[in-house]
Amino acid sequence: MSNDEFEISHYINEKKLLESLDSKDFIENISEIGFRCDMCARCCTGAQNDHVFLLEDDTDRILKIDENSIYPSPLLDFSDQFGNFYVAGYALKTSENDEKSCIFLNSENRCKIYDKRPLICQVYPYMVFREPDSKGKIDWRYFAGLGDHGCYNLYLSEEELKEIWDITIKYEIDYLNHEINFRKYIKEYFENNNLNFVKRKHAEFVRKYNSKKNKNRDVSEEPIIYVYHRNKFEKYIE
Ligand code: SF4
Repeated sequence: MSNDEFEISHYINEKKLLESLDSKDFIENISEIGFRCDMCARCCTGAQNDHVFLLEDDTDRILKIDENSIYPSPLLDFSDQFGNFYVAGYALKTSENDEKSCIFLNSENRCKIYDKRPLICQVYPYMVFREPDSKGKIDWRYFAGLGDHGCYNLYLSEEELKEIWDITIKYEIDYLNHEINFRKYIKEYFENNNLNFVKRKHAEFVRKYNSKKNKNRDVSEEPIIYVYHRNKFEKYIE
């Protein structure tokens, strides 16, 4: 087993890079894009975004609104040798319609919890995130779904650009802190409980879980999902 199977050093490194990043490049880039939301609400659907991941403050705030609106992050980050899953946090449930709309999107395509919406919803479609391009070159990405939604080439004032930078960088740092805390916690939890994470087995467990998920589920045979929240694992019960 590697010493860093939970990739803690990767997340610490990303955080260092993020904290040393100058806002200039981001601001120039998003100013050039000149995006404004046209309220198409596509970003609030599974068709455009896989899931809405919640940071811990989001989870606690949203639980007060509707305790049945969240479920474990579908990324199923880790598993133990018994096939139980351990995930970094909760996500918002979606409706059963074709678009897989967020549970809080109303029939007029408006957010029912707008003032209390998750931080990622306040930030999207902006991001400050490193990932490889089609040729494998890793670089900063600042905008999601270019051309798929909204209006472009519009004027954004200096004040607006600065506000976008401030909230986006806050989200990204909060997110990385959350991942680092989760990964440190699970490392210790696995060590203390004689549990093992094996990447190859994990891929098999995920495949098996996803293939069974929608077909005549026998819940009693399903793996347990443990969700990291406020420095402990919560056992998820549907
Ligand atoms: S919480 Fe609101 S803004 Fe966020 S995805 Fe759901 S409907 Fe959209």
